Amino acid sequence: MNNNCIFCKLAANEIPSHKIYEDTDFLVFLDLFPSSLGHTLIIPKSHYENIFDIPEDTAANLQRLVVRTAAALKNALGTPHINVLQNNGTSAGQTVFHYHVHLIPRYENDNVNIGWATAKHSPEDFSSCVDDIKSKLSSAVH
Ligand code: 5GP
Ligand code: ZN
Repeated sequence: MNNNCIFCKLAANEIPSHKIYEDTDFLVFLDLFPSSLGHTLIIPKSHYENIFDIPEDTAANLQRLVVRTAAALKNALGTPHINVLQNNGTSAGQTVFHYHVHLIPRYENDNVNIGWATAKHSPEDFSSCVDDIKSKLSSAVH
C-alpha cells in the first residue's frame, strides 16, 4: 500500500466509495466525478503506478473483469455504447497514479468528450516508426 495514494486508501476501505464488486485482487467502483452515469473504475488492490508497472498476469486478469463489467453496465444501464480507457502519465491525462481502467457508458447526445485531432506524418515517418516499434515488440514477445 502506498500511503499517499487515494486508490490504495479506497481499496483498504480507509475512504468510502460506491463499490460494485471486489475480490482479493481487484475493486470495481464508481468514479466520484463521473463523465456519464455509470462511469466505472477497475483497479488492482495492489499499488501499481501504470501500465509499465503492473505485472502482465494481473493486467490480464483485470482485463477479464473489464469485459464482464462492460457486459454488466450494458445490461444494467441499457446502453451498448461504452469507452474503455486507461491513462498512463500526465501527458496522457493520468491524474491518479494507481493503475486503473475507466469504463464510460455512452448515451446518445451525451456531453462526454473523448477524441483527438489527427496528426499528419510523412510516409518515411510511418515506416521508421513501424521499424522502431517492431524491433522493440519482437524482442519483448520472444
Ligand atoms: P485518470 O485521469 O488518472 O485516468 O482518472 C482518475 C479518475 O479518478 C478520475 O476520473 C477521477 O474522477 C477519479 N477519482 C479521483 N479521486 C477519486 C476518489 O476519491 N474516488 C473515486 N471514486 N474516484 C476518484
Ligand atoms: Zn495506490
